[in-house]
Amino acid sequence: MNPTKAVRHVKIVSTLGPASSSPEVIQKLLKGGMDMARLNLAYGTLEEHRRLIAEVRRLSQKLRLPTGILLDLPGSKYRSGDVKTLFSQHLDFAASQGVDFVALSFISSARQVKEVKELLQKMNVDIPVIVKIEEAPALERSSSLLEASEGIMVARGDLALNISIEKVPVAQKQLIREANLCGKPVITATQMLMSMVESATPTRAEATDVANAVLDGSDALMLSEETAIGSYPVAAVETMVRIALEAETVFPYQQIISERRDFLPEANDAAARAACQMAYQVQAKAIIAFTYGGTTALRLSKYRPRQPILAVTSREIIERRLTLLWGVCPISKPEPSSLDEVFEVAREVALETRLAKKGDLVIVTAGLPLSLPGSTNLVKIHSV
Ligand code: PEP
Repeated sequence: MNPTKAVRHVKIVSTLGPASSSPEVIQKLLKGGMDMARLNLAYGTLEEHRRLIAEVRRLSQKLRLPTGILLDLPGSKYRSGDVKTLFSQHLDFAASQGVDFVALSFISSARQVKEVKELLQKMNVDIPVIVKIEEAPALERSSSLLEASEGIMVARGDLALNISIEKVPVAQKQLIREANLCGKPVITATQMLMSMVESATPTRAEATDVANAVLDGSDALMLSEETAIGSYPVAAVETMVRIALEAETVFPYQQIISERRDFLPEANDAAARAACQMAYQVQAKAIIAFTYGGTTALRLSKYRPRQPILAVTSREIIERRLTLLWGVCPISKPEPSSLDEVFEVAREVALETRLAKKGDLVIVTAGLPLSLPGSTNLVKIHSV
């Protein structure tokens, strides 16, 4: 793994399209910092998307860069209610491809999200759902939509058309804050580096927009036309990485850990927060989280620690899902069978990633018993 990738906390979702469909460009996007590839079903054919999904998977395995696939389902602006007619063909495709997330357009109620989940359940697949917030009803119901889904997208393009453009900046900040407080990922999307469709460098205003979206607390930033149809897809990703890294130098990591004291009155959350606080106090090099279903990594991410969260999992599907989470760097390892093995693997991971050297401290977190998913109850300061 490239240690600089683990040092960046905010993730980059990059939309693939004609400008980024060749293996050469996809490889450069992966090396340049794309964490998740977005396929927008509003454009292109299913056959083209199938090929792109296969290509991303092949290259991400070859380069050992875990990469999630986000399938964006257009739905329809003009019809509401019957989720089945709107999404079912695309959900079939999502299920057949085993994508890592689906994003739903023009959703206005938690009931619709539940209906989509029921459809997925009937197909016997478990795919996390991201709700695109792009209309006034969704904005008003953001809290129930967050509860019903696995995350949200601030879809600024349609949102601007539907609530008026001057309301978008405040809506963005409110949505991000709300998602942060309930510990679900939020993607800030659309026109972040729009001028890079035609120009090798962004405008000052765009650079500032990217930095502000990082400081607002986005888990991920999204590129659309910039990488799908632009003339500089790779430069767009690389530029976004540089701006994000610079913004992260003034991110208020410790303030957030202190403020989020009373999140949830429960043991798992207390353990996750303690791990982040301990990492800060002992200046640990990394937080190493053993996670079966991804929940421990999600809990840690919520507290926004400065240290990389190295999320060790034996499951590829979870490894790919974790690519969306702020600060989380997924790492694939066989499931440890004992506590001794947990500490041994933690040491291995710390050294392999070159984030720590012998004698450095890391924080190890896990849920015991190891075979039981869902809990975070072990926190240890560990000398590598
Ligand atoms: C948006 O409207 O900002 C968005 C991300 O959705 P789409 O790309 O489907 O327009």
